[in-house]
Amino acid sequence: MPRRRTPHHPPTRCPTGKVRFRDRIAAGLALATIQRQGRQDRDKAETRAYRCPTCAGWHLTSQLPRVGR
Ligand SMILES: [Zn+2]
Repeated sequence: MPRRRTPHHPPTRCPTGKVRFRDRIAAGLALATIQRQGRQDRDKAETRAYRCPTCAGWHLTSQLPRVGR
């Protein structure tokens, strides 16, 4: 019987269009996978995870943290 799924969780998409991770652990795992694969056809690989204030999830970014000096 066809039955519609009723999601009880917030959408896994972020308005920024970036891949969203549920928590820092998930983001860290994805980050480790990317870094293990190395940079192949992409010259900028994600280097760190950050908490997104928009979707309250975690994203990966290739931007290096600002060194304040
Ligand atoms: Zn987000």
